[in-house]
Amino acid sequence: MIVILKHGTKEDKKEQLISWLKSQGVDIHISVGSYQTVLGLVGDTSQVDKDLVASLDIVDSVKTVSDPFKCCNRKFHPDDTIVTVGDVKVGGGNFCMIAGPCSVENEEQIVGIAKAVKASGANMLRGGAFKPRTSPYDFQGLKATGIELLKIARQETGLPIVTEVMGVNDLPLFEDVDVIQIGARNMQNFDLLREVGKLRKPILLKRGLASTIKELLMSAEYIMAGGNEQIILCERGIRTFDDYTRNTLDLAVVPLLHELSHLPVIVDPSHATGVARLVRPMALAGVAAGCDGLIIEVHNDPMHALCDGAQSLRPEEYDSLCRAVNGIREVVTK
Ligand code: PEP
Ligand code: MN
Repeated sequence: MIVILKHGTKEDKKEQLISWLKSQGVDIHISVGSYQTVLGLVGDTSQVDKDLVASLDIVDSVKTVSDPFKCCNRKFHPDDTIVTVGDVKVGGGNFCMIAGPCSVENEEQIVGIAKAVKASGANMLRGGAFKPRTSPYDFQGLKATGIELLKIARQETGLPIVTEVMGVNDLPLFEDVDVIQIGARNMQNFDLLREVGKLRKPILLKRGLASTIKELLMSAEYIMAGGNEQIILCERGIRTFDDYTRNTLDLAVVPLLHELSHLPVIVDPSHATGVARLVRPMALAGVAAGCDGLIIEVHNDPMHALCDGAQSLRPEEYDSLCRAVNGIREVVTK
């Protein structure tokens, strides 16, 4: 249920209503927008008398929200959420360019790539330290050392760092990480979602390989239900019957998620295609679809990358892509 307050409602009247609603056993999610204040009621609203609330003089209207996702619902929060990562903003017209290798391999590699992508216009650095690999015999990441190397790259470039957590027990290592990534394989690791919901740190939540849009939003809801509202959603391709590409980039979710939710939505054309030469056209298509940012794998030596070399752009390819992204953005934001 959402309660839309009349414009100009006095603070004390609003507080009175909120505490009365809370006494009915519901949690309140408050969204103060430029035009209106919306109170989103979360929990069991069956005890709340909708007609009584609608009759109050400070209430403009009351609507029931049947979607199972509430906090991340656009109806609860009509304005775009802007996720803040240091000086970088994502959403609400702010675009992020996250780039870096699939995995952190050594200091020279991560610092060199960080410098190169920054020079091209990237405003965040990605790099996996804990790697979810299909085979246990493949490179599993440098783990804690990888995070330390990311911090060195951050110090050298000023770029905030984005890296994936795979398990709850590793979370203490991520205290000084700027954005914690929940990867596709962990999108429904509910214990992990609940734990990152307790943090007050931006979360990059990737769509699962076979997850519906509703399931993605319900995972965001787990995080938001814990009070962490800084979430960036990411479309990274889903599993379909075709195997020419690693996954199928489902770009319709970009405008759809913008309709359904106030959270920013970014696109990962690297994991979506698995093929470096397809990354550029799909990145540009994502921008044209209105995404709030791109996360792209870049490697100085893709042939010898320890992970995902086939889908990694070389720094010069990334540089050229950045210029094209700016061109498309100019057109779509007009
Ligand atoms: C990654 O970004 O390194 C990654 C493993 O992505 P995904 O979870 O989307 O497969
Ligand atoms: Mn990868």
